[in-house]
Amino acid sequence: MTSPRIKLHKGDLPAGLSFGSSVAIDTETLGLKPYRDRLCLVQLSAGNNEAHLVQLDGSDWSAPRLRALLLDPGVVKIFHYGRFDIAVLKRWLGVATTPIWCTKIASKLARTYTDRHGLKDLCAELAGVELSKQQQSSDWASASLSQQQLAYAASDVLHLHGLKAKLEAMLQREGRMAMAEAAFRYLPERADLDLAGFDDMDVFSH
Ligand code: MN
Repeated sequence: MTSPRIKLHKGDLPAGLSFGSSVAIDTETLGLKPYRDRLCLVQLSAGNNEAHLVQLDGSDWSAPRLRALLLDPGVVKIFHYGRFDIAVLKRWLGVATTPIWCTKIASKLARTYTDRHGLKDLCAELAGVELSKQQQSSDWASASLSQQQLAYAASDVLHLHGLKAKLEAMLQREGRMAMAEAAFRYLPERADLDLAGFDDMDVFSH
């Protein structure tokens, strides 16, 4: 694969940009608690080896074009562990992202031969790509992000379309596509439970 094109935008997506019918999305935050830790970066890709990074400085959460995309019913949003990103986007941009596809949930339902469902594991097995997780815990609120941070952030969205295609075929093969879709539909509710403080509780358990 040729090296990806990475474009950094401040505060919102540029006008006139289209991602087609599905967009891969990931977020970087100040930490792991969606309610406490603010959103710093939203990465997006149409699956064409190009990543758009929207940097948010914490002073202006309006981002009208990004918001419109998250709410567009005609564009599927592909996440890996969307539960976290959807809670973060709800908390900081105030939007309930829809419709959703999650490669981690799909992997858990399709790849029952393993308990390794991290993005790194999926990229290695299904895409033959070695991801580096080196910049995962760095200061994403920094006003000037390093080249390493930008490359790492972009790498988290560049392969999701390919993973979705592979996982979709496996889910179909095993007759579990409807189950996966039901789980994706429930994700916004799960994210709301997380934001309400029920993040460490399985409300279905005995
Ligand atoms: Mn990431």
